[in-house]
Amino acid sequence: QPVIGVLALQGDVREHLVSLAECDVIARPVRRPEELAEVDGIVLPGGESTTMSRLLETFELLEPLRKRLADGLPAYGSCAGMILLAGTVVDGRPDQQQLAAVDMVVRRNAFGRQVDSFECELPVAGVDGGPVHAVFIRAPWVESVGEGVEVLARVPDIPANGAAAGRIVAVRQGSVLATAFHPELTGDERVHRLFVETVRAA
Ligand code: GLN
Repeated sequence: QPVIGVLALQGDVREHLVSLAECDVIARPVRRPEELAEVDGIVLPGGESTTMSRLLETFELLEPLRKRLADGLPAYGSCAGMILLAGTVVDGRPDQQQLAAVDMVVRRNAFGRQVDSFECELPVAGVDGGPVHAVFIRAPWVESVGEGVEVLARVPDIPANGAAAGRIVAVRQGSVLATAFHPELTGDERVHRLFVETVRAA
């Protein structure tokens, strides 16, 4: 069984551990470089990307994580995790650190006041069995992606989604996956399974 770590500095760590436990993998929290060294894949949870970025430095995990990602460690980031994985962030803090594992520009807190938090039924490429119930909480969206990045989902174009319709909210680059929404909050493990398949294939 692959060992999948969840970066456990801040955010909804427990929810990701629970989702992964349903996917026939060994799921472990990661707080120390020695723990990072032992995983076959890593999940970056939802939470607050600026806080997580600061804690990555405090816990001396930033450089080891960058190095493992550069060496091809599969990763999945939800929401704040998506922000951390991006090469560039719009509306981030000046001192916010980027892992730059996905060639994309992400806008932090993109949905604005009207749709600060919202939910919708979202078809995701690679996820079979119908749309995912996607929960967005002060979520980012992806402004643009580089050539090697596959777009897996865009906010459906229905009036309720307002200005967000058409925005990119799930991507993949090689073995790195990122979603602006939180599948770990819905009891639907299909996105985690997609990540686990990627880890197994790597
Ligand atoms: N707004 C948060 C951030 O900037 C992300 C919110 C979330 O992860 N639900 O990190």
